[in-house]
Amino acid sequence: MNHFELRDGELSCEDVPLAAIAEAVGTPVYIYSTATFERHYTVLRDALEAEGVRDPLIAFAVKANSNLAVLRTLAQLGAGADTVSEGEIRRALAAGVPPERIVFSGVGKTRTEIAFALSVGVCEINVESEPEMIAIAQVAESLGRRATIAFRVNPDVAAGGHAKIATGKSENKFGVSFAEAERLYANATNNAWLKPVGVACHIGSQITDLAPMAEAFSKMAGLVRRLKGEGLEVERLDLGGGLGVPYFNQPEPPSPSEYAKVVAEATRGLDVTLAFEPGRVIAANAGVLLAKVLHIHERPEGRRFLVLDAAMNDLLRPAMYDAYHDIRAVSPRQGPVRPYDVVGPVCETGDTFTRDRDLPAFEAGDLVAFMSAGAYGASMASEYNSRPLVPEVLVKGSEFAVVRPRPTYEEMLARETTAPWL
Ligand SMILES: *Cc1c(COP(=O)(O)O)cnc(C)c1O
Repeated sequence: MNHFELRDGELSCEDVPLAAIAEAVGTPVYIYSTATFERHYTVLRDALEAEGVRDPLIAFAVKANSNLAVLRTLAQLGAGADTVSEGEIRRALAAGVPPERIVFSGVGKTRTEIAFALSVGVCEINVESEPEMIAIAQVAESLGRRATIAFRVNPDVAAGGHAKIATGKSENKFGVSFAEAERLYANATNNAWLKPVGVACHIGSQITDLAPMAEAFSKMAGLVRRLKGEGLEVERLDLGGGLGVPYFNQPEPPSPSEYAKVVAEATRGLDVTLAFEPGRVIAANAGVLLAKVLHIHERPEGRRFLVLDAAMNDLLRPAMYDAYHDIRAVSPRQGPVRPYDVVGPVCETGDTFTRDRDLPAFEAGDLVAFMSAGAYGASMASEYNSRPLVPEVLVKGSEFAVVRPRPTYEEMLARETTAPWL
């Protein structure tokens, strides 16, 4: 459920018509609903608690939407943060997430990043390989601070909506095998600078089938039992993120309560704290990308292009993952539904949001909304083609605030310096 609905024939976010935001801020612009973020977080937490999962750590995956106001909205509800870089840890801290609710994941952490994570005291560093474990131990020793770690295990389960976002097969770059996890966990316990507290997995993103999750979770539970059986202490099991959302043309994703049932089933009797790293399921349907129709270009051979002022640099998912976003008119017109190719102004054929999509009537100047763009939208945006970084607006009830302004051209140029010989 989300809070983007037609009100008096006008697409609105909560109590604010999207057209009012376009008027004030211009387009393209990302628009987020506070009520939707809050709802998605609490629905997931309540579903887990209803299944008897006590006091879970729900660490929002910052890469899905790293806007500080969004992170603060979630932090105020008690969310933690799953981070994959020093920049994301800094964002989480700046948004008020306490370090003991910050998980540091990622395949290639630098020593500088590890030192930063240790100095602020994140709750766990998820170790992705043996060389990384050694590096963490060395950094911990040099700082005189013991590192709290968990091992990210690759459970060798196929899942995820697209090959580029599947992470849980042994051929992917993520995590260690079960056998390695057992060996490394025991080694780490004997290292004075490491404190292993648990194991973690994250098998992919946009998962719409619970079967691979159930398989991965029960394999992880088996690992916890084996580790405990060897006399090792395991406090936490981190089950990652990955739950899919409805993008309209895809299989209906499982509900949070079905997901919670699978979690509870797999982890019954384990006596560990559970952690989760949801990104998309919290953020995707809490945001839209609002754009304006520049032209409708009809080719003599029949193709009809809807040329927008938003482009692949603002919303990369269609170009990168062939992702589908529902496209809606902000003030729907009467008129025939016809097929369009929806494109942006960037000089790449990949700058095509969709082809042959049946859409309602549009005219130049109309506003269009890309739905479900709150996750992996603004956080993946760039200034390619020297287009100003797309701004972000947060709505709450009848109020809205610009939470990342559109940079001016002067600001963009001022970020660069010249070389002494020029
Ligand atoms: C990307 C990522 C997530 C979030 O995935 P979603 O599909 O957005 O829920 C969680 N954990 C890790 C380690 C990730 O890399």
